[in-house]
Amino acid sequence: MPELPEVETIVRDLQPLVVGRRIVRASLSHDDVLRGVTRRQLTRRLAGKTIRDVSRRAKHAVFDLGSERLVIQPGMTGSLTVHRRRLTSAESRYAVLRAELNRGGELVYTDVRRLGTILLLNEKQWELYDRALGPEPLDPAFSVEQLGSALGRSRQAIKKVLMDQRHLAGVGNIYANEALFAAGIDPSKAANRLDTTDHQRLHAELRRILSAAIRSNGTTFRDYRTGTGEPGNFQLELLVYGREGEPCRRCGTRLTGTHAIDARISVFCHHCQS
Ligand SMILES: [Zn+2]
Repeated sequence: MPELPEVETIVRDLQPLVVGRRIVRASLSHDDVLRGVTRRQLTRRLAGKTIRDVSRRAKHAVFDLGSERLVIQPGMTGSLTVHRRRLTSAESRYAVLRAELNRGGELVYTDVRRLGTILLLNEKQWELYDRALGPEPLDPAFSVEQLGSALGRSRQAIKKVLMDQRHLAGVGNIYANEALFAAGIDPSKAANRLDTTDHQRLHAELRRILSAAIRSNGTTFRDYRTGTGEPGNFQLELLVYGREGEPCRRCGTRLTGTHAIDARISVFCHHCQS
């Protein structure tokens, strides 16, 4: 699933293409991506609205429509782009949400397996939704102490806690694996057993890696594309994710891959991480 750097890239690409534009009409191909809103309500309420801004919160692209927010969390096979031409037949086959914009162009959410979600929230609902999410790791005000207190209360594996959006926003499997490797922390270690030095290292590495990934337009493993339809490049810089069985770049030990921690693939070095 696209994580913080990928959604940030999408949002930055979309900004100049959608802000100030009015949605002329909207259509939805399938209801299964909707949460708390029906197809009829969504398409009716989107029509005529002007997109005032688009920003990222956690792994969501948030479109500010004035009185409402259109919140899209792209799934693993999802992409969110503005098309200025007719969609190809493959594109229109998997287009889930299409919003025609005034002055030309169409904002399209495409999702082959429809693993993404779409919400339409009023101000009060958005406030509650936002409040339930953890702090943003790239917020300049996000401190080592904040990370420590977000992670410190849980006895669950640190990797699991890092990916829990209620504790910390935007981090998923790829960047949890990478940050834990860079910080030298075993992904299965109980979160409340990390000490201050671990918090400092993890804080620094999380911010360094997420920022570097944004500079590379995110990681393209399968279907992820930027807001202009290009692949990202951070996959070239990954040190552990996708490298199970290969030698550790730091010490040469074979990297371990396991699904035992959280059912997702965890890749780490026995020698470098403890
Ligand atoms: Zn190693």
